[in-house]
Amino acid sequence: MSSIQIIGGGLAGLAAAYQFEKSGVDYELFEASPTFGGKVASSQVGGLLVDAGADNFLARPPVIQRFIQELGLGDSIELPQAKDPVQIYKEGELFPMPKGTYLGVPLMSSDEPVDVEPATTIGAAIRKEFSADVADYLVEPLLGGINASEIDNLELQSAAPKFAEAIENHGSLRAGLAKTVNISSQLPVFYGLKGTSMELVDAIVERLNPAKLHLDSPINELDPDRLTILATPAHASAGLFDPNSEIGQELSAIRYTHVGQVTLIFDESDVDPVLNSPGIVFPLKESKLISACSWLSAKWNRYQLPGKVVIRLTTGKNGADSHIVGPDQLSDTALTEALISELSEVVKVGEPESLRVVRWSNALPLYEVGHSARVGRIRQLAPINIAFAGAAYDGIGIPACLQSGILAAKSVTE
Ligand SMILES: Cc1cc2nc3c(=O)[nH]c(=O)nc-3n(C[C@H](O)[C@H](O)[C@H](O)COP(=O)(O)OP(=O)(O)OC[C@H]3O[C@@H](n4cnc5c(N)ncnc54)[C@H](O)[C@@H]3O)c2cc1C
Repeated sequence: MSSIQIIGGGLAGLAAAYQFEKSGVDYELFEASPTFGGKVASSQVGGLLVDAGADNFLARPPVIQRFIQELGLGDSIELPQAKDPVQIYKEGELFPMPKGTYLGVPLMSSDEPVDVEPATTIGAAIRKEFSADVADYLVEPLLGGINASEIDNLELQSAAPKFAEAIENHGSLRAGLAKTVNISSQLPVFYGLKGTSMELVDAIVERLNPAKLHLDSPINELDPDRLTILATPAHASAGLFDPNSEIGQELSAIRYTHVGQVTLIFDESDVDPVLNSPGIVFPLKESKLISACSWLSAKWNRYQLPGKVVIRLTTGKNGADSHIVGPDQLSDTALTEALISELSEVVKVGEPESLRVVRWSNALPLYEVGHSARVGRIRQLAPINIAFAGAAYDGIGIPACLQSGILAAKSVTE
């Protein structure tokens, strides 16, 4: 029997390979690009190695705890440093994220079940129990930011499973979160890695047999006789099926959003005020191009340079992103100027000493209403020799992608 084929060398594909390596199963991994990691990457900005994609990940999922331990990354863990809370932009002013919130949702106890139809979107679930300001200014910029989509378009069940579970088990989000979230817990919520998130990618690759790994090796055709894990974005996977087939159409129907990031290094004297916060979020309601300003030099030790401020401006949400990749695409200079001009309403900056523009085309899948049903149909329609893994299906964050790779590996060998 030929070895199992893994297509895609992002974290999902690498996790599948790692699982095979540990269980002694023969495999080969094919990655189209010259590097492993996919949406996890880093590069130099002004002599500093800076993440170009994910710069942190949830610390609590058991899968991440296991990878950190097995890969010996314990000493590389960094915890976010900033002293002040995240700042929220509203009508030209900054307001701190209130204390006692979980992903923007105020934690307040209530045993009263909310007697209404179950919500299908995150936005609807929040709006039923909280004010419009909580939805638009606290939850939207955090959960909508992570998912690069507006919360009224994000399916509750797939994009915020913890919220869905809280409502199902306790009758309301208020009651559910009050009973299940412990914000005084000593366990951190997020981890970063001292050597950027690429440390995770490199540590996995180091444990794999190099003879089984193929870079610059796009797969353009599926082998019907070979067990295969498709750890590619849904649009890339769709291209491997007949476009008129049901599965090809279901995969193509998962929409993606482009994301742009401008990383800037300033002399501290050219920034006013210098924040000691993880950054600023710009709610969708404010109609800005910029969705977030991460204050990297306050957030992470690895980005602290004496006398300098390192920030990253992010743009791209909900598919309204052709200014990043598409017909209205702005040049690097125009994009940088547009984002800086919006930031300047609350933080004045001079000329940057260094900058890097990164454009991620089709960066993040949108978990729109109907997503979980579509994923179910994709898995049902999949040929018997194919398993799917990666951000398109059961969660876009790093832990979810690792877990999906492991589960796909287990499913094809069962
Ligand atoms: C800008 C940005 C910031 C993010 N920040 C965070 C964060 O802070 N925390 C967090 O947890 N998550 C974050 N994410 C999300 C997370 O990084 C991704 O969801 C995750 O890395 C995706 O992993 P994956 O393996 O599913 O897919 P990918 O990383 O997309 O990997 C898929 C791979 O398949 C390859 N491929 C495609 N077609 C073929 C083919 N035909 N043959 C062979 N190979 C092919 C691609 O080249 C790619 O390497 C961020 C994402 C982006 C874009």
